[in-house]
Parts: sequence; structure tokens; C-alpha cells
Amino acid sequence: MSYRLNKLGYQQLIAEDIAWLERFSRTLERDHIIMVLQASIEHEYPSFTAADLTPPPCETHGEPYCDCDK
Ligand SMILES: [Zn+2]
Repeated sequence: MSYRLNKLGYQQLIAEDIAWLERFSRTLERDHIIMVLQASIEHEYPSFTAADLTPPPCETHGEPYCDCDK
């Protein structure tokens, strides 16, 4: 891919891939590929977690909400 899709675009692409795969009869391989495709959404576009919103700790005290370097 030469450009990076946003998460919604990527999810739509994966949904299409999965719909295509689901036309085939169910095998262990098919189900595994579907599983990997679904997991790739979170892998490529991780959801924000509380940790992502926490500022980096200050260098002096190691405290994320320290006021010393402001
Ligand atoms: Zn500090």
C-alpha cells in the first residue's frame, strides 16, 4: 500500500476481505485467516487507552503530572 488508510477505511477493507473469504466453505485455514484479519485492525490502528493519554513523566521526578518543568 502506498498510502495509509484511516482506521475506518481499513476496517471497511477488512470487512470486504472477510465477506469474500466467507463465500468459501468453512475450513480451519479460512477461519484462521478471518481471525488474523480481524486482529490486524487493532494491530494497525490501536485504540486509545488511558495510558496513551497520560503525559510522559518528568525527567526529574518521574511523575506524569508533575508541575516542575512547566
Ligand atoms: Zn518533576
